[in-house]
Amino acid sequence: MTSHLADPEHNPSFTRSVFLGEIREELVFPFPELSQEERESLNAVLDSFRTWAAATVDSAHMDREGRFPDEVRKGMAELGMMGLNIPEEYGGFGASAVLFSRVFGEVGTVDGALAVYFGAHQSIGCKGITLFGTEEQKRRWLPQCASGERVAAFCLTESGSGSDAQAMRATAVPSADGTHYVLDGEKIWISNAGYAGVFTVFAKVPVEVEGKQKQRVTAFIVDANAPGVSLGKVEEKMGIKASDTRTVSFKDVRVPVVDRLGEVGGGFKIALEILNSGRLGLSAASARGTRKILDLALAYAKERKQFGRPIGSFEILQKKFALAAAECYALDAAWILCASMVDRGGIDFSLETAACKVYGSELALRAALEAQQVAGGLGYSKEYPYEQAVRDSRIMLIFEGTNEVLRALVALSGLQQPGENLKELGRAFKDPLRSLGAIGSYLGGKVKRQLGPCTLTHVHPALKEEAELVCKAVHDLSGAVEKLLMTHGKDVIERQFHQERLANSAIDIYLSTAALSRATWAIGKAGGPEKATADVDNARIFITMAMRRTRRALRALERNQDGRLKAIAERALESGSLTVETPTDA
Ligand SMILES: Cc1cc2nc3c(=O)[nH]c(=O)nc-3n(C[C@H](O)[C@H](O)[C@H](O)COP(=O)(O)OP(=O)(O)OC[C@H]3O[C@@H](n4cnc5c(N)ncnc54)[C@H](O)[C@@H]3O)c2cc1C
Repeated sequence: MTSHLADPEHNPSFTRSVFLGEIREELVFPFPELSQEERESLNAVLDSFRTWAAATVDSAHMDREGRFPDEVRKGMAELGMMGLNIPEEYGGFGASAVLFSRVFGEVGTVDGALAVYFGAHQSIGCKGITLFGTEEQKRRWLPQCASGERVAAFCLTESGSGSDAQAMRATAVPSADGTHYVLDGEKIWISNAGYAGVFTVFAKVPVEVEGKQKQRVTAFIVDANAPGVSLGKVEEKMGIKASDTRTVSFKDVRVPVVDRLGEVGGGFKIALEILNSGRLGLSAASARGTRKILDLALAYAKERKQFGRPIGSFEILQKKFALAAAECYALDAAWILCASMVDRGGIDFSLETAACKVYGSELALRAALEAQQVAGGLGYSKEYPYEQAVRDSRIMLIFEGTNEVLRALVALSGLQQPGENLKELGRAFKDPLRSLGAIGSYLGGKVKRQLGPCTLTHVHPALKEEAELVCKAVHDLSGAVEKLLMTHGKDVIERQFHQERLANSAIDIYLSTAALSRATWAIGKAGGPEKATADVDNARIFITMAMRRTRRALRALERNQDGRLKAIAERALESGSLTVETPTDA
């Protein structure tokens, strides 16, 4: 079951806590393991999917044709893939988040567009019904989604509102008799639109608040066959070409009141919750995609000889493989850990899924580019899968929250609690006698932080040095956050150079801690660090690299060239050109 909702208030997340200088070890240790039953289920699903895909799915052909052959969509439905994470009582398989994400990753290795088809349907298309639907809504819609009879799609983006989804213009006006809403608006870039039988649509409902007209974002389940629903042409895209992406228009569409999802005004939260968990699948797909394309490049590097030896024996190429392996090690650890938080329930995982999506998507694209480079000229040819991997992986940095917006989200969410604490402190100092408690607890925390970094007590001693690096980074991050808030106050919202540094640090801290947890688990399982050298090496390389980046990022909060960067960008925006005149300009 994957229907657990985040609960930041009662259970602050790992990443929010590191902004306060705390490491919530209980959220990340021990590293999760699959139960025997889960392992058997996973193997059964993967075996049947792999056998079917090997015989049926021709990714290069689908890329050329820009569509899925009918037997591919039919096969996905017959295999039960369309209901994998839909609860069993509604006709699905009821996969856990770990199992679903792992399978998502596998679909991604077979074909990027097929993964988008699979994900747009379950991760976001009908996920809102699973998470927020009434019993009646679940019974009515989910069995048809699970069987694949109705493919689902998620309609949030509009031409004027992409990252700023709240600025949407689509409206849903209640009818005079109160039986239905009249939906009007146009959603763009909708994955699965052409195949869809049901849409989750977000639109604004007019409400009166204290005598004033307000618009409240609300979610609806919309039958794709309802009168007034129409589709635009298939978008021609750089990659994931077989994925059917279109504009979906709603003109006076009657949506029965029973198909409203959640409360009036609850739509934006619903969209965020759906995307929070949707990002997990993308990160698992990124990790699997990274492995697959690099495995191909490895095989090539072993075979291909230049200068009388395999190109894989050259250290410049070896470094590419080694770094990607270490990054993939940490990414796998991070998404598995995060999926297990989803499965445990009641844990706020929103920043961790964002971290996995940002790191994973950028790794997958870099890995595809590096693999293409290893393949030399062949990498540029359409006869080989490298160029398609570059094109297909590119989208992951853009959809389900662009990486820029997700970085800002990680930073600003992380700053929220320290900001509140300082505000409270400011208020307390205005009336110190009555506020000794608040001042005392702040100073107590500060003294504790100054005494030194917190410790990671569950890490295997073989990784002591790496654990210390992570603890020091958490300590330094919280100190830097406090200084930043004191310097900029509310204005920090505008300081995106700094937000990016904080977000990158928090992302690297989460992935490093995940790598520590995974390597500790592997050492325990193998019976000692000398028997788990691959794990230890990967964890050491990743953590050392990530913590070096973090030190650099935190230093740059104080010593940087932000003013100059801003000046260059603003000059260029003003003049419309990046270029400064050269003597050869004509
Ligand atoms: C192939 C494909 C499939 C898609 N599928 C779906 C789908 O199924 N359903 C759906 O609803 N949508 C879908 N989308 C839409 C996708 O989610 C949006 O494209 C994405 O959210 C970005 O919105 P935008 O394109 O309007 O870009 P914009 O929001 O205009 O962003 C443009 C650039 O500005 C940056 N930017 C914007 N705001 C900020 C900020 N505050 N700080 C820093 N940088 C910022 C962005 O990071 C980006 O680099 C899909 C898009 C594509 C291309």
